[in-house]
Amino acid sequence: MRLATEREHKLHSCIVGVIGETALRGDLAVSESDEAILFSCLGCGAPLTVDGSSPRTLTCEFCSAASFIPDALWLRMHPSQRKKPFWFLLAVTPKQKHAAKKCFR
Ligand SMILES: [Zn+2]
Repeated sequence: MRLATEREHKLHSCIVGVIGETALRGDLAVSESDEAILFSCLGCGAPLTVDGSSPRTLTCEFCSAASFIPDALWLRMHPSQRKKPFWFLLAVTPKQKHAAKKCFR
């Protein structure tokens, strides 16, 4: 948990804190995999090495055929990032709380 910054205050003046944001940072910090995986050319069967920096389509150095990396292998090298919730901590007066409840009826 941390105190709200000016940016959060601009979203809503009652926001005083942000909760759960560190978990989000941790997940987003996961980078592309550096693990090299052997993949075969679809034209001649020659080995093609794929890693996290490889383009989606590889050109074989032996037969010049273009091989499109299958989704399963691509997602292994570029895992999707899971969205995690975070919460804003609000400081409201009883009058503001009552007014907010009316908005959601
Ligand atoms: Zn080839």
